[in-house]
Amino acid sequence: MKTKMIIVAAPSGAGKSSFVERIAAEDARLHDIITYTTRAMRHHESQGKPYFFIPKDEFDKKVGEDFFIEWAQVHTNFYGTSYEQVQLAWAKDKVVIMDIDIQGVVTFKSKFPDAKTVFILPPSIEELKRRVIKRDGAPPPDLDVRMANAEKEMAKASEFDVRIVNDDFERSYTEFKKIVENWIG
Ligand code: 5GP
Repeated sequence: MKTKMIIVAAPSGAGKSSFVERIAAEDARLHDIITYTTRAMRHHESQGKPYFFIPKDEFDKKVGEDFFIEWAQVHTNFYGTSYEQVQLAWAKDKVVIMDIDIQGVVTFKSKFPDAKTVFILPPSIEELKRRVIKRDGAPPPDLDVRMANAEKEMAKASEFDVRIVNDDFERSYTEFKKIVENWIG
């Protein structure tokens, strides 16, 4: 059976959102769902791009209303995926693709065992650190927390269906696309 859900995980800064955003733009069978966060917007971000940015009290209210399939604290903020976003994609007969953290992957796999999982690895922790600083324009306040979490997450890479090292984006993306196309038929 072809999968209806593809989950991409990676340490923050490994480039997973670039993989997901590009493939969703190139392949109309896929729908990149928007998740919710309490984190502050970065420059270049806006409401719905790439998250629905909501205050913590609203997030807590949604948790209480069972609005999320899964939610997790990632670094110092909260993130959650709604049933609504997944259902909207499936109603259009699309395959859901999304990038979430590793805690979310465990929850999704328990609720949707047929979901396919991809782990994107940075070439090294040093390179990951460099990319995060470059992306944010300065070292983020929680850089050390992020790097410590990255090492913990990378230790779980073997539990995923496939692993891709993002050394050269074009090369890695081609590998990623081939795998995803094979899954969705
Ligand atoms: P960032 O704040 O750097 O955009 O993302 C931080 C982390 O949160 C990333 O690893 C991202 O994949 C993850 N994330 C985004 N949305 C969700 C979600 O709905 N659930 C979970 N568990 N993680 C998420």
